[in-house]
Amino acid sequence: MSLTELDLQYIWHPFTQQKNMLPPIAITQGRGSVLIDENGNEYIDAISSWWVNLHGHAHPYIAEKLYRQALQLEQVIFAGFTHKPAVELASRLIPLLPGNFSKVFYSDNGSTSTEVALKMAVQYWWNKRAANDEPGLKRNKILAFKNAYHGDTFGAMSVSDRSVFTLAFHDLLFDVIFIDTPTTENLTETFSLIQQHAHAIAAFIYEPLAQGAGCMHMYSASAMDMLLGFVKAQKIICIADEVMTGFGRTGKLFASEYMAVKPDIICLSKGLTGGTMALGVTACTQEIYSAYLADDKLKTFFHGHSFTANPLACTAANASLDLLLQPSALNKIDWLTNANKLWAGQLQQSAAELGIKNIRTLGTILAFEIEQGKDEYLNNISGAITQKAMAQGVYIRPLGNTVYIMPPYSLTNEEYEKIKAAVMDILSNTA
Ligand SMILES: *Cc1c(COP(=O)(O)O)cnc(C)c1O
Repeated sequence: MSLTELDLQYIWHPFTQQKNMLPPIAITQGRGSVLIDENGNEYIDAISSWWVNLHGHAHPYIAEKLYRQALQLEQVIFAGFTHKPAVELASRLIPLLPGNFSKVFYSDNGSTSTEVALKMAVQYWWNKRAANDEPGLKRNKILAFKNAYHGDTFGAMSVSDRSVFTLAFHDLLFDVIFIDTPTTENLTETFSLIQQHAHAIAAFIYEPLAQGAGCMHMYSASAMDMLLGFVKAQKIICIADEVMTGFGRTGKLFASEYMAVKPDIICLSKGLTGGTMALGVTACTQEIYSAYLADDKLKTFFHGHSFTANPLACTAANASLDLLLQPSALNKIDWLTNANKLWAGQLQQSAAELGIKNIRTLGTILAFEIEQGKDEYLNNISGAITQKAMAQGVYIRPLGNTVYIMPPYSLTNEEYEKIKAAVMDILSNTA
């Protein structure tokens, strides 16, 4: 049997209706920005394999570091033990992060990084209350954005938008106060809503400036700054979920750099290891960490995973940071940012003929909607566009009718032009 036949027999794929599913394509190799299938067909990975890949696939520098680490130490329990890759990564990340962070907590992926953040924030208030530092109302409510996505575990689902992703579980999700992403027009209304609950809110979790799975919705940094300022003034812990936006995607190393008001907790994953291995980071300020320092054992943060701070994953992250902080990578981010602005301008000019709207770009991300059917994730146009692009050697995977690109920083000018040509061709024949 072929790989695809064996797959169909034994495997259940993520976010995929298995009935009448197109047979998955067997990828045998990745090289730079290109994926190669078992028949030798090549596809430019224009969405960085679900937003994780930064420097291109099977990067020899990362591979070499991983190989050496695997021969040295592959895994060790992280309670009572530590190791160089974890220490090195934490000590390098802390000064790079947007804010006054002091401690790194490791976990396994993006969803666990947000779960950790939520638990960290809620127990912060629980510990404070137990210490009688903060008498008064219990703070255990979470504030979040409508249209948000923070992962697929139960806590992460709870703080995500109630959508097709979460429909079957609504009864089991905890209540969250949802607000609109900020505009100068809606701030007053949002402030008064927050004010009503302020003393009960433990934390505010948000994807800064771009809501990834929320169809790449983007919003204003200046309005966000005002919202964050207001939220902070209520002593609400600000949790920036930079799982998608981190490591250069928005044009800056972290999206939170666009705002003057910085988060108290930050969540990282996806690009953290350059997209090589699963790893999550939740970093917090000294203020939050201090609430856990106590003689009382009940104030311990009782959370952990078997593979917490896996040495191989931390090694991949260190290697990815080496590559990311080189001028060539930072220049590539600037180059992609400018190329996207240029392309967005061109798309804007022929938006009507192409049947598209809402063209937007933020750093290395460019997105727009196709004006067909409803603006929603279940819009069937997505599959058709993926098929057409693949036929032209480009891999994109629209979120419903939202077409976007988020390529790795290994992308060449020629590859960018190829993505552009494929998308333009599809649009011209779809409109
Ligand atoms: C992808 C994503 C997550 C979840 O990360 P996983 O590694 O897929 O669990 C959380 N938050 C945001 C903003 C994401 O884009």
